[in-house]
Amino acid sequence: MKYKINSTVTGSLPKPNWIAETGKLWSPWKLSGEALELGKLKATLSSVEDQLSAGLSIITDGEQSRQHFVTTFIENLSGVDFKKRKVVRIRDRYDASVPTVISRINRKKPVFLKYAIFLRSLTKLPIKFSLPGPMTMVDTLYDKFYKSREKLAWRFAEVLNEEAKDLEKAGIDYIQFDEPAFNVFFDEVKEWGIAALERAAKNLKSKTIVHICYGYGIKANNDWKKSLGSEWRQYENIFPLLNKSKIDQISLECMNSKVPLELLSLLNNKEVLAGVIDVASKKIETPKEVFNLIKKITKYVSPKKLTCCTNCGMITLPPKIAQAKMESITKGSKLAEKYFFS
Ligand SMILES: [Zn+2]
Repeated sequence: MKYKINSTVTGSLPKPNWIAETGKLWSPWKLSGEALELGKLKATLSSVEDQLSAGLSIITDGEQSRQHFVTTFIENLSGVDFKKRKVVRIRDRYDASVPTVISRINRKKPVFLKYAIFLRSLTKLPIKFSLPGPMTMVDTLYDKFYKSREKLAWRFAEVLNEEAKDLEKAGIDYIQFDEPAFNVFFDEVKEWGIAALERAAKNLKSKTIVHICYGYGIKANNDWKKSLGSEWRQYENIFPLLNKSKIDQISLECMNSKVPLELLSLLNNKEVLAGVIDVASKKIETPKEVFNLIKKITKYVSPKKLTCCTNCGMITLPPKIAQAKMESITKGSKLAEKYFFS
């Protein structure tokens, strides 16, 4: 059997400027109604073409159909009132005005199914789709109904599982849950966070991924990162728990991050999606730089269990730079493949 090192993106890709403001995080849509629906499909097509031309081996929708990685999903659920807003502290880091949970959460209809079916029609390569994780969803709302973060997370997990099963039926090979909140609430991760994540992934045949990270390069995150010291060891709290979990793959940032790579040895039961591209910098990593980082990572992760990706989403980068960075992932992975497997 010939092994390969897969290459993909972790999260968002730049949006074309006719659908939203290019380079802006959470930019409002420039279209509405039918035009927006059609626009989302057109933007997905162009994002898939970009990934194929960069040579990535696992293709995503580039998150072209969502405005925000949590809110766009929640907007399609009943039980949340978007007009009743309250300012809460998000991930213990910054204040934001958020909607209120007012009654039982239900998924009215599939949220991303249409885009998953469309993505499946565009390529024969394996495809990946991202959903928010239950703990991060809880952390993005004010809850007047369940009055328990754990109970609300559990209900979100059930609803996410319904959505994930629809995505799986549409032919999605990898389902990724984004759980940046895992990096902050260590006690809750242990008490109910992993259980809720496993509930969201229950009985899926698609490979399951959890992406934990230190966030986009926004000011609140950058300030927080400065307070973390020269080594970021937060993952030390949660990797041993994830290593025992039913989730197949763990995604984290390795390029220019202060996460000590030796922490990867805590994931010896798992496959690893290693970020080899810095999304907070416009400097384009060379394939050689990517390859050198892969060599360092493989001191702790078998190359047979490694997929290379971006540290996080690239929505804030200019499209040309994002494209060049994707090409570097492919080329760097190919250099590593040759080095390890030929
Ligand atoms: Zn991320």
